[in-house]
Amino acid sequence: MSARARIPDRGRAADAVLDELAAMKQPDADWRGGRVFSLVYHAGEAHEQLLQRAYALYASANLLNPMAFQSLRRMEAEITQMVAGLFHGPDSAVGAVTSGGTESILCAIATYREHARAKRPWIRRPQIVAPRTIHPAFDKAAHWFGVELKKVDVDDEQRARPDAIARAVGRRTIALAASAPQYPHGTIDPIEELGEVATRHGLPLHVDACVGGFMLPWLERLGRPVPRWDFRVPAVTSISADLHKYGYAGKGASTLTWRDMSWMRHQFFVATDFPGGIYVSPTMIGTRPGGPLAAAWAALQAQGEDGYLALTRAAIEAAERIRAGITAIPGLQLLGRPDTTIVAWGTAPGGPDLYAIADRLEARGWSVDRTQHPAGVHLTVTANHLAIADDYVRDVREAADEVRADPSLARAPTAAMYGMMAKLPVRGLVKRGVRQLFEKMYAPGVVVPDATAPADDAVGRMLDKHGAKLDAVLDQVGKLRTRLKRR
Ligand SMILES: *Cc1c(COP(=O)(O)O)cnc(C)c1O
Repeated sequence: MSARARIPDRGRAADAVLDELAAMKQPDADWRGGRVFSLVYHAGEAHEQLLQRAYALYASANLLNPMAFQSLRRMEAEITQMVAGLFHGPDSAVGAVTSGGTESILCAIATYREHARAKRPWIRRPQIVAPRTIHPAFDKAAHWFGVELKKVDVDDEQRARPDAIARAVGRRTIALAASAPQYPHGTIDPIEELGEVATRHGLPLHVDACVGGFMLPWLERLGRPVPRWDFRVPAVTSISADLHKYGYAGKGASTLTWRDMSWMRHQFFVATDFPGGIYVSPTMIGTRPGGPLAAAWAALQAQGEDGYLALTRAAIEAAERIRAGITAIPGLQLLGRPDTTIVAWGTAPGGPDLYAIADRLEARGWSVDRTQHPAGVHLTVTANHLAIADDYVRDVREAADEVRADPSLARAPTAAMYGMMAKLPVRGLVKRGVRQLFEKMYAPGVVVPDATAPADDAVGRMLDKHGAKLDAVLDQVGKLRTRLKRR
């Protein structure tokens, strides 16, 4: 444990503070170089400078009081209107800017719950039905707001199945949710068909376009086949879309758009008995920082439609090069559908171990997003990746060769952990391990988190201790099941 940090006795010179901040970045992921996917959306240095300046102009402004900061309220209203237009919303469309996709989703779920409380008060345990590829922000919202999230299996192309969703709807269902596209594979759920299910059951439909909201409209304009997913589908009642993803805004900006006020009015929270005065808030947070809002507004203005189209063209080319390259590597295959600029790949049956390849890629300096069920690697491809697409494919090929030559690499800690996760009963163990890891990271006195991967730490140790035993037990359970089935 390091000594506890404290506020310096005497204030330091601004330059010294800024120098130290700049130096602190040294171990961070190098997102400018294109070796990071999904965490940062980089539209070039000039755009980055613009975001920083816009952010700085409003760094201290606070939209908690829109009368005191009419500038920010104007930016929020204009962003909402631009977004409503982009998503073909009716004139009645309304919305808010939030701090991120998770906050947009938290607001949507809370609002649907409040709406149901008002309109269908006999429902004691409200439920939302969604495909199992829905983002964990929905699990989080369901967890915090006492809503059950019923997850339904998807088809082989990772798309929601409208028939299965319809069968899952019950008397407690208050809304449906699906993604355009879902994050892991970039596959677009069949929103029109799901809309029919929603209409048949008199249910609202939330479309999570957190990653797709500022990507699909441009793909469509460029002539790519994009199934209808926005307010042109009559059953769609709300859409979450992140400005800080393909909107290339600064971090901390997302949108939640409603078809009309009959929904959004349930999003406003009002407290009247606070000694500090009447308090009203449209989103989850209280103080609403001006920086992200100004940077998002600046991004939309500075890019314009032509800018976003150019960024999208580059992202498509990068994604296609990576797809073609992966397909040409023996033993590897693409996952999901090539609907968007998100690429996901895995290994074919009998191919080399996917998670071992992922480890070897990481060793080559790539930041790798692993997916599961099925095992895969996810890439949110942006314009910034065009320059590295060929390097990436080359490194994947080398990593795959390495694992083919030495299959024991599959037993390295991270690969082993993800491999084990595929087996359901191990997940409880992993959950506990990951929680312990965070308790350690947030323990008193700790400053720099242990840079080693979770698998090298608590999870790895637990798996080392129990993994072999669990494997044997699971084998036995499998055999028993087969025997019972035969009878
Ligand atoms: C990123 C993402 C979210 C969550 O957004 P955050 O900004 O990370 O909170 C939700 N849904 C999808 C499909 C996403 O890609």
